[in-house]
Amino acid sequence: MEVKELNVNRFISKSEIEGIDFVINSYVGCPNGCMYCYASFMKNLTKHNEEWGEFIDIKLSSYKLKSVSVTNKTYLMSSTTDCYNLYEEKYKLTRNILSQLVNFDFNLIIETKNKLILRDLDLLKKIKNLKVVISLNTLDDKVRCDLEKYSSIESRIETLKELTNNNIYTILNISPIMPYLTDYKKIIDETKDYVKEYHFAFLELKNDTKRKFLKYINDNYKEYYLEYAKIYLLNDNTYFTNLKIEIENYCKSNNIKYSI
Ligand code: SF4
Repeated sequence: MEVKELNVNRFISKSEIEGIDFVINSYVGCPNGCMYCYASFMKNLTKHNEEWGEFIDIKLSSYKLKSVSVTNKTYLMSSTTDCYNLYEEKYKLTRNILSQLVNFDFNLIIETKNKLILRDLDLLKKIKNLKVVISLNTLDDKVRCDLEKYSSIESRIETLKELTNNNIYTILNISPIMPYLTDYKKIIDETKDYVKEYHFAFLELKNDTKRKFLKYINDNYKEYYLEYAKIYLLNDNTYFTNLKIEIENYCKSNNIKYSI
């Protein structure tokens, strides 16, 4: 793992994501190294030669947030890394930012897969408008281990439970939904007591990620390869079009709050 400390002026940038004013990314790279990661474009953008998941830049900064720039805005932590990745244990960048933010009136969405977020419960409980998003797209630990390096399924469900017990609003991001591998109904069944709402997003594959993922399917789930080829090589969207309708019907008939 290539770990570099960088001195930067700021760790916040304006967001182009709908509904989000600013994103906070205190790290470049993500040791979780998910094979399907949508943020792996950061490897080329930051001119890293290492594989995605094999480098991390730690953004050290003395920048202080000001009330005027924060009030009534919506912040996302984080869009291109996991702000509770394993280096956060040592560097506490996320914790330091949270300890500044708690003094202001703002909306915060934290996305993570890591139970380290529970370390900061003392701060999280002080934030009025907080939503925590945990991502999970399989209950099969073999698939999870093949595609992601850290954070067991069990620890994510435990984290949801603990957050809920502390009155923190939880969202489960069933994402990315992998054709024929993600059983969203089972995931909902397993988690519904600890989740206020569900988000769904479908697997998108581009460039190198597409090559790697299709190879993974061909090597491990040959029976699905032709279906994957239809979707990702022939751009046939029928599978996801039908699945979207199915999920919407399922959520509506089970009174599940959702977005897709
Ligand atoms: S945890 Fe998120 S940012 Fe990190 S590698 Fe996985 S998908 Fe990418």
